[in-house]
Amino acid sequence: MEIHCGNCHKEYEKSEYVVMDEFHSLIHLKCFKPTGFIKIKDHGTYGMMKEKYSFYRNLGNFDEE
Ligand SMILES: [Zn+2]
Repeated sequence: MEIHCGNCHKEYEKSEYVVMDEFHSLIHLKCFKPTGFIKIKDHGTYGMMKEKYSFYRNLGNFDEE
């Protein structure tokens, strides 16, 4: 199962910049609209997030098809 953006519903590419909120939800940086209610926990490329946070690693693979 791959995770996808809640806004545009596309699967994340490894090199795309994403934003992680305090609930560990991801959204594309380009799709993210600051509201003042969401606290940003981290941001970076999707590839970086998967390396950094183990709970994303089981959600899909880039290299193993
Ligand atoms: Zn998006």
